[in-house]
Amino acid sequence: MQQPTTELAAALAAGRAAADAIAFLGDPQSFAAGAVIDKGAAGPATVADIASQVAATITLRAMLGASVRIVAEESLEEVDSLGGDSLLATVAAAVRAAGIDCNASRAREALAAASDAGGAGTFWAIDPLDGTKGYLRGGQFAVAIALVRDGMPMAGVLGLLRLAPTGTGMGAGVMAAAVRGQGAVQTPLDSWAPRPINARPWNPGDPIRLAGSVEKGHSASDSLESRAAQLGPVEPVRVDSQAKYALVARGDADTYLRLSPTPEYRECIWDHAAGALVASEAGCTVTDSRGVPMDFSTGRRLTAAQGVICAPPRLHAALVDALAPLVG
Ligand code: AMP
Ligand code: MG
Repeated sequence: MQQPTTELAAALAAGRAAADAIAFLGDPQSFAAGAVIDKGAAGPATVADIASQVAATITLRAMLGASVRIVAEESLEEVDSLGGDSLLATVAAAVRAAGIDCNASRAREALAAASDAGGAGTFWAIDPLDGTKGYLRGGQFAVAIALVRDGMPMAGVLGLLRLAPTGTGMGAGVMAAAVRGQGAVQTPLDSWAPRPINARPWNPGDPIRLAGSVEKGHSASDSLESRAAQLGPVEPVRVDSQAKYALVARGDADTYLRLSPTPEYRECIWDHAAGALVASEAGCTVTDSRGVPMDFSTGRRLTAAQGVICAPPRLHAALVDALAPLVG
């Protein structure tokens, strides 16, 4: 992938603007009261989640037109119920730091414009700050932006502000990017200097570096690790956010496994669209925990999927069998 396509260029620009807004806000452990929002079962959101979403939305609309459909995690209703215009003033300052003309009313407009319900056709899926608990704890987090067409991610980026790049010659933080059929790359957060990334093939008996959630309430990591141990010695890699997909995509882990401990939970599309594309373009097979392909045309949630198996093909096939007793 020498030059990004128009759609990937928009995703990269939106990802960089989002990353700049997040970086401007600094260390979340020193955020003022009111900058961290409790969304109950949906977990926390912060002023950085909102600023990232506003920066990414304004950038996509500026580059691709205001009619572009955007499905994003955070909502204007949530902002209004929690901090309203005082929260939006801080958001707007962070978005301006990303070089975007913004005020509370433009931030409102952007939040209202990013409330598509998804489903059929073509739209963007944005997780402005995936892994908010990791972000607050000092762990990994990701800005995840994907173009979805007819149920499939077509282009996507993961902005990984706390992930060291592999190889040399890059600054801190990295962007993983992919276009369907054109492979996956990593590039510095702020420039286009792509290096291809590839998953590492796995052979029976090899150790399995198994990426899973840090948060026990998000994934049954212990059960997944003990089932996978049938195939080889498991080395757990507990990491927050879609950074897990990037680690497998660049050969730093062998698989990403996820299964909610609550059986009725259905994954959100923005938690998987960009990461699944990056990993599959790096040579992985990505399905739900039963081996069923993910269908991103089911609205805001992956209603037909349960959990994730992301691994190079041979390991993926072995894991579908090994996990079958867990997913019945
Ligand atoms: P991770 O950092 O991989 O654990 O994933 C973070 C994501 O977990 C968040 O973006 C949430 O959307 C998602 N999440 C929240 N609650 C659950 C749950 N009960 N099961 C699975 N995922 C969840
Ligand atoms: Mg998320």
